[in-house]
Amino acid sequence: MSGATIQVTTREAAAAHGVSLRTAQRWAAQGKLNAVKDTSGRWIITLTADVTDFKPAAIDKARELIEQGGILPTRRPGIYTAVSSDGTTTYLVHRSACSCPAGARGRFRCYHRAAVAILQAASPARRAA
Ligand SMILES: [Zn+2]
Repeated sequence: MSGATIQVTTREAAAAHGVSLRTAQRWAAQGKLNAVKDTSGRWIITLTADVTDFKPAAIDKARELIEQGGILPTRRPGIYTAVSSDGTTTYLVHRSACSCPAGARGRFRCYHRAAVAILQAASPARRAA
């Protein structure tokens, strides 16, 4: 498996780091995030995430989940909790496993796991900050 480059918004980066949008924008301006401004003046942040084994649709859903704050780190390293799409339950998610019904089927790579891959790709910038 190799890393694939994906581009996220400051809102997604903020959610990934657990900081405010303003903080993420400041980090972008300070060069703490791998960010460039697009022609409309918005920051585009490039992450190298190991998402090559996920389908594009799963990556899109993962990004939506992150932006909505639906996946959060727990106190255990590498373990996250994700809110189900109907909001009624939460799942425990690791890079290589997920407790959601789709994840429990084994080989299926659910979008929760893609979200963890993206969050973990974002984390080195946090340590640098
Ligand atoms: Zn899952």
